[in-house]
Amino acid sequence: MNDILISEVGPRDGLQSIASIMPLEAKKAWIAAQAAAGVTEIEVGSFVPAKLLPQLADTADVVAFARSIPNLTVAVLVPNLKGAEAAVAAGAHKLTLPLSVSETHSLKNVRRTHAQMLDETRAIVALLRSLPAERRPKFEGGLSTAFGCTLEGHVSPDKVVALGVALMEAGCDEVGLSDTTGYANPQQVKDLVRRVRSACGAHALSGLHLHNTRGLGLANVMAGLEVGITTFDSSLGGLGGCPFAPGASGNIVTEDLVFMLEAMGLRTGIDLPKLLAVRDILKAALPREELYGFTPEAGLPLGFVPATAH
Ligand code: ZN
Repeated sequence: MNDILISEVGPRDGLQSIASIMPLEAKKAWIAAQAAAGVTEIEVGSFVPAKLLPQLADTADVVAFARSIPNLTVAVLVPNLKGAEAAVAAGAHKLTLPLSVSETHSLKNVRRTHAQMLDETRAIVALLRSLPAERRPKFEGGLSTAFGCTLEGHVSPDKVVALGVALMEAGCDEVGLSDTTGYANPQQVKDLVRRVRSACGAHALSGLHLHNTRGLGLANVMAGLEVGITTFDSSLGGLGGCPFAPGASGNIVTEDLVFMLEAMGLRTGIDLPKLLAVRDILKAALPREELYGFTPEAGLPLGFVPATAH
């Protein structure tokens, strides 16, 4: 049994924010290798129009492939009902609808107000509830720009809480908090997680999506751990960021995150040497893109014993 769930988002968040397009075969090799390293959840793409994000145009094919890997939860992002229909048709196990707490960001990102996004949420819930239980994907509302916005600046925690409640009332299985812009600090993470949990219920919030834009990514993970968060999104090599939030670059690095957790005695189920080797697939497929991470550069400490090995 693992202590922490690492949700790899590189094939979605990473790839959507770089100019290079990764060929389908390389995506398959990446996903297969990372699953073989012990990663049990991967966000493999996004069902958005191909003209908006040509990098993710093959998401249905990627989902079909990823579904063939045993014990892997295949997650996707959906911006609206149409995306959710495509995700269901492809057989994704988990859908995340991003709802920007900053309405300015929401209008720019998906051209919809909060009220329109909540309508969309209810429509998706109706679709999912019409499916037989064994084919019904899990549905998460992702509260993006929850810690601050490059367009609006300060984002009110009251607004985050209110939208979290609204998403749960609309029928989401859970909500997640996203630091889309890399504005979060550890104290803010603790405060906001506590507030959302007390308003929505502890079961309603288990995951954090953090970026390392200002170097506080792992400090924010520590803050999340202290208040009981058990799922963290991260990207192999810290690839990418948010193309709609100027200045935001790079999710927290999966390799460094796994190293920190395992060194602390928290089991992720991930084999670090195997995980580090997956970078070679990215380097070969994306020769022009920069990869980040300290652990891959420094190597594992002499005598290092991961928690997962116990
Ligand atoms: Zn992100």
